[in-house]
Amino acid sequence: MSETPTSVRGMNDLLPPDSAKWQHLERTCRDLFTRYGYALVRPPVVEHTELFVRGVGEGSDIVGKEMYTFADRSDRSLTLRPELTAGLARAYIEHAMAAKEAVTRWWSLGPVFRYEAINTGRYRQFYQIDCEVYGVAEPTLDAEVIAMLLALYGELGVAPLTMLVNNVGRGEDRSRYRAALVEFLTPHAAGLCADCQRRLVTNPLRVLDCKVEADRRVVAAAPSVLDHLGPEARAHFDTVLATLDELGAPVVVEPRLVRGLDYYTGTVFELTTTAGNLGSQSTIVAGGRYDEMIGDLGGPATPAIGFGIGVERTVLCMPGDPATFVAPVGVFIAARGEAARRRATALAHALRAAGIVVEVEHRDVGMKAQFRRADKLGARYSLALGEAELATGAAKLKEMATRAEHDVTLAELVATVTRLLAA
Ligand code: ATP
Ligand code: MG
Repeated sequence: MSETPTSVRGMNDLLPPDSAKWQHLERTCRDLFTRYGYALVRPPVVEHTELFVRGVGEGSDIVGKEMYTFADRSDRSLTLRPELTAGLARAYIEHAMAAKEAVTRWWSLGPVFRYEAINTGRYRQFYQIDCEVYGVAEPTLDAEVIAMLLALYGELGVAPLTMLVNNVGRGEDRSRYRAALVEFLTPHAAGLCADCQRRLVTNPLRVLDCKVEADRRVVAAAPSVLDHLGPEARAHFDTVLATLDELGAPVVVEPRLVRGLDYYTGTVFELTTTAGNLGSQSTIVAGGRYDEMIGDLGGPATPAIGFGIGVERTVLCMPGDPATFVAPVGVFIAARGEAARRRATALAHALRAAGIVVEVEHRDVGMKAQFRRADKLGARYSLALGEAELATGAAKLKEMATRAEHDVTLAELVATVTRLLAA
């Protein structure tokens, strides 16, 4: 190859300092989800294509036109996962989790792949963070999951937030609604986009999710799924709303909210924001109940609910300059001569073991250049080591912002720095 290689379109490198903001999001999720009892699971990135066809659904855009599917060297059809839920469900079944515990709470994170038109907040490799709960059918859980998401984004400082919720029904309710929707849409069919003309036949509920403006205008007058719910689904939805109210979690009922994935039954939700100028990519989290998927995939009938967080979109609407998320350097150690560099390396090692962020200058460059680097890194303190400091065991610790100097002994350096940084 004579040309310089470049990355694949829609697949981005994550570099510092942006990665520090991502780490903040991941840490916040990990800590919060742990408090709610979720345990981390990491399924593989590649699964049998069949899993997604059955799990995500043949009529979905994902399976229909977005998957990265390939034959491996043994001619098996494999697919780069386009989402996390199906792989987690596969793992739940394969490891017979239902026989091991009545309730399973899993979370996961990692890259997913969809061949899509690229835009702000829309890429071909992107990251999701998922939570899934298996084994609970009751509506108070739905409310807990939704309220946890609002708590998460509150902690991240994302505002304003709108949590849209709906119930898409299942079984007979869903069939009745589908019939009513088809009856309503059929006279408008000629005015719908080509995708929706196809969806009207294959998956009419998906027409409600279309992003094309003209289609959205048609859909605005469509019948509401909530008017087609039977008493059981209605009661479930009412309890979800009542529990959310009791939790003080604000939500907006949006009867036209359906999800692009086929597997949802009952409660669905989307978290949207106007922060970050995401335009039509303003949905940052999406999820819902999928009480039939585990059974449909051959597992024991198990109710389930979950969501997927769009990481890139979330980071785009999180406040704060990425640089402010980078761990600040506590001490920069500058050294002159090889003996000093050896001692600097050892001192840095000890400081780091005590939990302090340390940068040590290993390059054989002048002290001026070393201090310029300390300034550029925003180090709180710097320590200069030369022959004199090695001989006496005493040195000066300089506070970079004020240039104030503290006398320190190298023997007590860790204790002194720990005290100063805590002050
Ligand atoms: P959209 O309607 O925007 O295509 P979706 O319904 O396909 O979203 P889900 O499959 O529910 O999205 O995925 C969960 C979340 O992942 C979305 O809410 C969004 O934040 C994010 N997401 C989806 N597709 C992409 C993408 N191509 N690039 C970046 N993030 C994405
Ligand atoms: Mg999509």
